[in-house]
Amino acid sequence: MMDALTSIATPINEPVLSYAPGSPERDTLQARLRSMVGDHPLDLPMVINGADVRTGETYDVRSPHRHRRILARAHKTTHTEVTLAINAALRAKRDWASTPWTARAAIFMRAAELLTTKYRATINAATMLGQSKTAYQAEIDAACELADFWRFNVHFASKLYTEQPISSPGVWNVLDHRPLDGFVFAITPFNFTAIAANLPTAPALMGNTVLWKPAETQSLSAHFLMEILREAGLPPGVINLVYGDGPTVGAVALTHADLGGVHFTGSTAVFNQIWSTVGQRIGEYKSYPRIVGETGGKDFIVAHTSADLDALAVAIVRGGFEFQGQKCSATSRVYVPESRWASLRERLAAHCAKITVGDVEDFSHFMSAVIDERAFRKHAAYIEHGKTDTNYELIAGGTYTMDEGYFVAPTIFTSRDPKAKLMREEIFGPVVTVHTYPESQWSETLALVDQTSPYALTGAIMANDRVAIEQASRALRFSAGNFYVNDKPSGAVVGQQPFGGSRASGTNDKAGSPLNLVRWVSPRTIKETFSPPTGDFAYPFMRSP
Ligand code: NAD
Repeated sequence: MMDALTSIATPINEPVLSYAPGSPERDTLQARLRSMVGDHPLDLPMVINGADVRTGETYDVRSPHRHRRILARAHKTTHTEVTLAINAALRAKRDWASTPWTARAAIFMRAAELLTTKYRATINAATMLGQSKTAYQAEIDAACELADFWRFNVHFASKLYTEQPISSPGVWNVLDHRPLDGFVFAITPFNFTAIAANLPTAPALMGNTVLWKPAETQSLSAHFLMEILREAGLPPGVINLVYGDGPTVGAVALTHADLGGVHFTGSTAVFNQIWSTVGQRIGEYKSYPRIVGETGGKDFIVAHTSADLDALAVAIVRGGFEFQGQKCSATSRVYVPESRWASLRERLAAHCAKITVGDVEDFSHFMSAVIDERAFRKHAAYIEHGKTDTNYELIAGGTYTMDEGYFVAPTIFTSRDPKAKLMREEIFGPVVTVHTYPESQWSETLALVDQTSPYALTGAIMANDRVAIEQASRALRFSAGNFYVNDKPSGAVVGQQPFGGSRASGTNDKAGSPLNLVRWVSPRTIKETFSPPTGDFAYPFMRSP
């Protein structure tokens, strides 16, 4: 306990280490990769009320780039453990909600320190081995973005708590930023270790207790995240981790009367199911569950005739193929003026010829495997569609193999039809489709960009002409929640580009910003009157003249 109005300085984004040959971080990471592979298969228990829970029934966690290698075996939940985890969260709630917010904040600030020092190589190695991220992609996600989430959220919470109403003379008004009623259900995707950690911890920072269900394919890094949080001093029951399939956990958690909120990131289809389950039972909860979901995207780059083609080519390749195109913000459809296409095509073909796809443990590769066989087959089907439908022309890639790992070559098609399947649907893999347009149809093209897909997550305009930038910014105002000028549409940084989209891309509650934290509080207004009225109850206007 302490009597102090503390201030939290604006954090600095965690510096991204280079992992260049000869750097100390490279040696440490390579050693950790070797030891983690040597340890396998690790046993991954669930964590309920602070205790390890094993059901004995497990699923295998494999390296997507070497799918025969079993890294870990995760204990699978049944309905029983989900109920135990919810009960633990509800029990822990009373103490956690009344813990001073500074004490809660200290846990996450300490977790950020542990993450960026003692655990940096561990969390990066787990993300590389389990999710097939390259060293650089793991570093910007699992170490840097996550440290930023934890540090910036504490800073934003401190600002939120200072938001107070005015008070008139003799009265003191206070806003008590309480957590929600009940428990929060955090459901997380495979593609970002940072998102997997942020979804349960942002509500927990605000005093909520949580049931956390990570994607099966992210279980290895989830295990180490829980280890960091426990070491940072997170009390038992505040975050309860269960492994297993979504529908099994969802069947219990989404229908529980104490469901206070859902913090989801994943596909639009799953989010729609979650929302409709909650909607169908809306009269049966003790409160109205807050539903926050960040979902799919069909992210665009629209190039004006004044665009710098070198910058455009790099934006397409990095935006489209980093982490195998498995970022919700990945460049997926590109609009290029017809007259610039021949030169751009040459540049793209030259870049793609240099990209190697392989094992992340060999640091020379730009790309590695896609997450699992289901994703691989889905990408292969899109590529076959592109190769067989005469609407498309294959520009680069178009090959795939799953002999060793789930490898899909960086693939580029052109599409004559601007509304064809590959221009419209989220593929979530390394496939980029380009439509070329006549320069005279610039404003019609902007309208096409806006209307082609149901999503509105990220997008970019590449142009040197300022008037064109303004036209695009205006025409595409509602087409993307994160809009970029002369940059790729991925790579948002916490505190700098709050992330999220609208339409079919989610509720746009901007993870890693004060707007997200607001969703995890249910404020109580307290009015205290220092001299309450006494004597006559009647008001002066009632007196006779
Ligand atoms: P997914 O929808 O398949 O799974 C997400 C999570 O939901 C997993 O933990 C899964 O087990 C769980 N789940 C599945 N069915 C469920 C059910 N019926 N009830 C409860 N939980 C259930 O998504 P994914 O493949 O892990 O991730 C890829 C998707 O995530 C892409 O569509 C991508 O665009 C999106 N994504 C969006 C953002 C964003 O900020 N907008 C960020 C990252 C990923």
